[in-house]
Amino acid sequence: MNGSREQRGGGGSPRRGGDQGHPHAPITDAGEPPAARRARALEELLVEKGVVSREDVRAHVDWLVSRTPADGARLVARAWVDPAFKTRLLADARAAALELGLDPGPSPIVAAVENTDEVHHMVVCTLCSCYPRALLGPPPAWYKSLAYRSRAVSDPRGVLREFGLELAEGVELRVLDSTADLRYLVLPRRPAGCEAMSEEELAGLVTRDSMIGVAEPLAPVHARG
Ligand code: FE
Repeated sequence: MNGSREQRGGGGSPRRGGDQGHPHAPITDAGEPPAARRARALEELLVEKGVVSREDVRAHVDWLVSRTPADGARLVARAWVDPAFKTRLLADARAAALELGLDPGPSPIVAAVENTDEVHHMVVCTLCSCYPRALLGPPPAWYKSLAYRSRAVSDPRGVLREFGLELAEGVELRVLDSTADLRYLVLPRRPAGCEAMSEEELAGLVTRDSMIGVAEPLAPVHARG
């Protein structure tokens, strides 16, 4: 490996690690956003004071990045096929997640809200990026952007249109602002034409964006154009 890198580097004395000839600039901390620097400084301090250990931090980060929207999709699919479960999900999403053996995470309250023919919910965190990470995985970059956080409130229908979702006239749009203590999971409308599908197949139609309320679930393959 090193040998070939050094060859590509051409002249100059080959160094250990073979970084000669890399087509990009070395990665440094130079462009680090202030928030990242602050978070790192806080971590250093908390470790130094013995409040958390580095292992705690690493284990939590590992847990966070291991989460995926597939868990949320299982909740939605079960709610679509089991009305009693849907009632329990809407009453207490944490308990419903535990019932399916899913990890609802440390967030005190996860509220599931149901989209219907009359009401459409879309979720935002206007302050930062609060999100039901345990059930949906890390939030998408756009969810954390200032543009989404502000425009989801000032022009929610316009934002939905940009996501390709045109709400029918007369549908009430409710924008839900998440907090650290209260996070939302949207239960999207079940697509037409999937009556014969199994719960597992239904889960495959449930996208991350449909559980944030900026998209509808996928249509069943045979019903797609
Ligand atoms: Fe937040």
